[in-house]
Amino acid sequence: MTAPSLHPTTLHMRRGACPALSAPMMTGDGLLARVALTDAISPLQLVDLCRLARIHGNGILDISARGNLQIRGLSEASAPLLDADVRALNLPLREGLAVETPPLAGLDDTEIADPRPIADAIRLGARDIAGLAPKMSVVVDGHGQLRLSHLLADIRLVAVKMGDDISWKLLLGGSEASAGVLATLDEAEAVSAALDLLGKLASMGNGARGRDLAANLLRDNGELPTTSPFDLFVLADSLHAVGIGPAFAQSKAEDVIALCVEAERRGVRFLKPALDHSLLFFGQRPACEALAVFAAENGFITSAADPRAHIAACPGSPACRSASIATRDVAEETARGCSDLLDGSFKLHISGCPKGCAHPEPAALALCGTFAGLSLIAQGKATDLPFADITIADTKATLRRLADLVRSEKRAGENSAACLARLGADRLAAAAISGRP
Ligand code: SF4
Repeated sequence: MTAPSLHPTTLHMRRGACPALSAPMMTGDGLLARVALTDAISPLQLVDLCRLARIHGNGILDISARGNLQIRGLSEASAPLLDADVRALNLPLREGLAVETPPLAGLDDTEIADPRPIADAIRLGARDIAGLAPKMSVVVDGHGQLRLSHLLADIRLVAVKMGDDISWKLLLGGSEASAGVLATLDEAEAVSAALDLLGKLASMGNGARGRDLAANLLRDNGELPTTSPFDLFVLADSLHAVGIGPAFAQSKAEDVIALCVEAERRGVRFLKPALDHSLLFFGQRPACEALAVFAAENGFITSAADPRAHIAACPGSPACRSASIATRDVAEETARGCSDLLDGSFKLHISGCPKGCAHPEPAALALCGTFAGLSLIAQGKATDLPFADITIADTKATLRRLADLVRSEKRAGENSAACLARLGADRLAAAAISGRP
């Protein structure tokens, strides 16, 4: 049988376009397809997906920062076969506009409001809006235990409580900390306002984004506190959820299969790929706790105290053709050697090139691959001006010197992010180059 071939445009998507299931994106290790889900699946359904990743791809899976599964190493011939086989699994696949809700939505007693009905209404209404930017995203956040505050969104609705009344704050562009607040609305108004804004953005052309409507509304409230998914959560009706993730967002399919088989054996009922490259498994408390022990023994992140949870590393070399460095090797070494620096107050951004896929927002400290080695950037993006340039061979010693500086200069009650910000680029540069011949 001849394999169906991809439409040529899907093989030549512009960089930055979403690598959806039917429109995979070319990367350094072949085509990458994204499986975005709108609801939970069973552990055995994830096993099925992992098996397809091994059959059609190179058996490597990513979980994105937004909680999408990504299957790597596909060929032009195998990508359409994966598409057909994934669709045959009858999973709750997301089609069309990305309207995201927190992974505990509707199960979380602490939520101000269940965001799913609003998300469903926006998803439905947006079907009639043609011409939206390919990466357009809407976040609807019910303000529960796990929030999506740090994810960038074109349009964001956040539940707020005033007395007994529940309203929805409408924000445009950026993260929740940087987005401009447009209005506070009731549920029906929130849906129609979001659809109106989507219509307006579509009429501005398919490159228009929420920030284009919000240029004069943007603000900087600093980082909002975020809760790590790598924890045990108590939900309604004594349901529990435990967050588990592969190191640096990527895993071999067989390792995820082993985790899911163990989850099934323990009676875990369902799971969701979730924010911060995690998988949330839902079940009774003993099952969740036992699964976390199994996961930790097998190299997964299970605790926010794990320094690997505080590094945002893109796939890097050799997975991405644009990469100058093996980001994950640098990340492993940094997590081992500088765990004191990685206290959870910031994400250390390790980027294979200035595009900065793994952390589009500024970071307290970023490392960016260059032809000559690495650039070190303070309070910025991978594209920003570095305070020092180092060789790959100097990386471990330089980062240790920066970590030592932070450790010795930290004031009582200060965290690493605040200390890095206070020290500033000049002090960091002096420490970075101090050990050089
Ligand atoms: S940031 Fe990383 S994944 Fe993105 S293009 Fe550059 S090297 Fe590739």
